[in-house]
Amino acid sequence: MSAPVRLAPLGDGGLWQAVMAAASGRCQCRGACGKPHTKSGGRCDREHGTHRTHAGGQVRLIAAPAEATDLLLPDHQAAALPRNRLAAWCPTCHHGAHTAARKAAAAATPPAEPAALF
Ligand SMILES: [Zn+2]
Ligand SMILES: [Zn+2]
Repeated sequence: MSAPVRLAPLGDGGLWQAVMAAASGRCQCRGACGKPHTKSGGRCDREHGTHRTHAGGQVRLIAAPAEATDLLLPDHQAAALPRNRLAAWCPTCHHGAHTAARKAAAAATPPAEPAALF
């Protein structure tokens, strides 16, 4: 069996702990997800382990690339990023930021149109 075993969303538990510690256990989104988070001072106020989801579940932050461009990296490349390029994300913001990054990347890349047709 050579399939890698992924214990955490990114990297090992130690990396996750370090990212969460640097973020004080709070989502570090500052609007990348598309929400301005104005009610919480411009930064998402979701904290790990708090009961804030509508379903009554606990917020589980994940460690993921901080920059939108890095968010689009394949998992194995994202997992190799240094800790200072990772941020704590709540699932909602991570999903929103990933979607926004994908859209931005698509908009930045000119569609592969064929050369002018005669
Ligand atoms: Zn968030
Ligand atoms: Zn957000």
